[in-house]
Amino acid sequence: MGFSTDAIHAGQIPDPTTGAVITPIYQTSTYAQHELGKSTGYEYGRTHNLTRQALENNIATLEKGKYGIAFASGLAATHALMSLVKAGDHIIMSSNVYGGTYRLYELKLKNYGLEYSWVDASDTVNIENAIRKNTKMIFVETPTNPMLILTDLKAVSEIAKKNNLISVCDNTFMSPYFQNPLTFGIDIVLHSTTKYLNGHSDVIGGMLITSNEKYHERLRYIQNAAGGVPSPFDCWLILRSTKTLAVRMKQHEENARAFAVFLSKSGAAKKVIYPGLKDHPQHELAKKQMRGFGGMVSADFGSIEKAKKVLNNVKIFTLAESLGGVESLICHPASMTHASVPKEEREKIGITDSLVRFSVGIEDIEDLIEDFKKCAIFKT
Ligand SMILES: *Cc1c(COP(=O)(O)O)cnc(C)c1O
Repeated sequence: MGFSTDAIHAGQIPDPTTGAVITPIYQTSTYAQHELGKSTGYEYGRTHNLTRQALENNIATLEKGKYGIAFASGLAATHALMSLVKAGDHIIMSSNVYGGTYRLYELKLKNYGLEYSWVDASDTVNIENAIRKNTKMIFVETPTNPMLILTDLKAVSEIAKKNNLISVCDNTFMSPYFQNPLTFGIDIVLHSTTKYLNGHSDVIGGMLITSNEKYHERLRYIQNAAGGVPSPFDCWLILRSTKTLAVRMKQHEENARAFAVFLSKSGAAKKVIYPGLKDHPQHELAKKQMRGFGGMVSADFGSIEKAKKVLNNVKIFTLAESLGGVESLICHPASMTHASVPKEEREKIGITDSLVRFSVGIEDIEDLIEDFKKCAIFKT
């Protein structure tokens, strides 16, 4: 099936009781059992929920995987992933991941005996060089947030296979519409469904997708055992949203591309970062492993004053954390999404105080460009 057909239909059948075309919100904590020891297969809401199952099967299909395991947030999924390793194990991380991922792993879970190495994964030789005897997992985010640096997914999966490691990719920025890491041999895909998959800025959610039976079994177990599950209503909202993922992503990309081209020609920014621009250092890799370049654009305005002028005066772009919704958002990574990363670490990876990140929405592009023009300082 094509992507849009899967997005609309996969995982969902008309409700057997009424024929309802849309999967109902099974808002129940428990299920009546026929007799002692004989249930319908559904026993307790944390363990089984049909709305959640429909969502898991839907997103698993879009990611070309067999299993989806849903969580109450992207970070709950990020946390659950660590149930695949144990104290004394070593994990190789691409530096410049989502700030909350860094906070959870480096500032919290390290205290439980897990070891993390943060490497520049844009050159996969750095990953190979970081492998130790106790390495168990490679976790990459591509493109990264907010520097939009890419990692070669095929190379990562080959390194992982050769060294018997679990490979993971946070695919939040591309969404399954533009990139399917499992097709390059990556073992597990992670999503903050809060972003493009839900796309309407009204749900927090997360998902892990895999085709590996063993990892699925362990992650399914921890989903129930630790219990970080999403509500049936949130699952229903995301399921509603994935139906339009294809049309939304097309428009996000068209707008982001036009906005990036405008920005780089405008002279307002010192540097514009977008994988779809020919001057992006990994433009060729982007064309190879992605089917599009996404809706995120970052720009360094050279000084905090110039950045502030844009951040504080735009009207259609809303100053807010998060990304991937139909409405355009603007954010200051150094003080917002990446505030928990120490300043030296931040600057090392390019997150300067003058860097601004745009989540380009699906409004009329002319309006977005006008909005920016009204508040930016242009060189004369
Ligand atoms: C937002 C985000 C997360 C965390 O997800 P939440 O749903 O906010 O918990 C993880 N990775 C990336 C790339 C994100 O953008």
